[in-house]
Amino acid sequence: MINVNQLEIWYEKNKRDLPFRENKNPYFIWVSEIMLQQTQVETVIPYFNKFIKKYPTIKSLSQTDEDTLFSVIQGLGYYRRFKNMLKAAKTVHSEYKDEFPSTYQEIRKLAGIGEYTAGAIMSIAYNKPFAATDGNVIRVIARTYDIKDDMRIEKNKKQIKLINQQLIDAAIPKIYTQAIMELGALVCRPVNPACEDCPIHGTCKAYILNKQNELPYFSKKKNKKTIKYHVFLIEDDNSLYLRKRTERLLGGMYEFPQFEENEMIPFDYEVIEDKGTYKHVFTHLIWEMKVERIKLKSEPLTVWLKINKELIKDYPMATAHKKIIN
Ligand code: SF4
Repeated sequence: MINVNQLEIWYEKNKRDLPFRENKNPYFIWVSEIMLQQTQVETVIPYFNKFIKKYPTIKSLSQTDEDTLFSVIQGLGYYRRFKNMLKAAKTVHSEYKDEFPSTYQEIRKLAGIGEYTAGAIMSIAYNKPFAATDGNVIRVIARTYDIKDDMRIEKNKKQIKLINQQLIDAAIPKIYTQAIMELGALVCRPVNPACEDCPIHGTCKAYILNKQNELPYFSKKKNKKTIKYHVFLIEDDNSLYLRKRTERLLGGMYEFPQFEENEMIPFDYEVIEDKGTYKHVFTHLIWEMKVERIKLKSEPLTVWLKINKELIKDYPMATAHKKIIN
């Protein structure tokens, strides 16, 4: 069981000083929650500061273009979330006169905002009891209630969401949401949780039964798929060719022309230099890229963009290909 009151008192004394907690502007909360998806707090902080400096209001964000936005957040990964963010900002501009909506239903309709993000905005920015259940919350609740089910299965996660909702219903929402996440991040860590310092250890079943390191249970993931690519650095005087990705993965980012290992190469070329093989690991797959510097012996493809070599830094590049430039 969790005593929400004890948890909230602990949070007020122990919370980290984070730039997105300085005020409860729903726009800032939204930006930070989108950035924190799949990304560590320490990595997010400098990006958040840079982002808010460039786009201090949702109106300023709605007026930017995708290339400029991507150059601000390049390196953070999972670029689709920012494509959606731009779309959502444009909706807030056109439908809500630049005022971030304040009901759960309206917020859920914005591009890229799921149950978790809407719950975080509603509770942290508007102090309304909508639960936000992330990995930290799953860990704290699975341990305190000794829930042994596989958390890779959606219906099992639902149990945790229900408990989290009951807890926030009895709490101060804006404090509770941050408190339980902070407890998961600082104390109830995945490995070696600091139970002695935990404000709720007296009622934590995992602590009492000494099985903290067994919970939560996640079944093994399947092996990642590897895709082999042939990547071309095509130089032409002082220029290089890039392609803007249209695929779901890394859509909108730029890359050097690349083709899957067994794909037919639709142009003639001469190899100038073998640059070796590079690897990039995504959460669900691996790219293995054989890179060559080449000279074209036929016309370039129309989907390529010819850019001045010196200006490559102005193009938001997929991190997998940024490694090649470096
Ligand atoms: S007592 Fe330990 S396992 Fe239980 S919630 Fe606290 S840190 Fe997590």
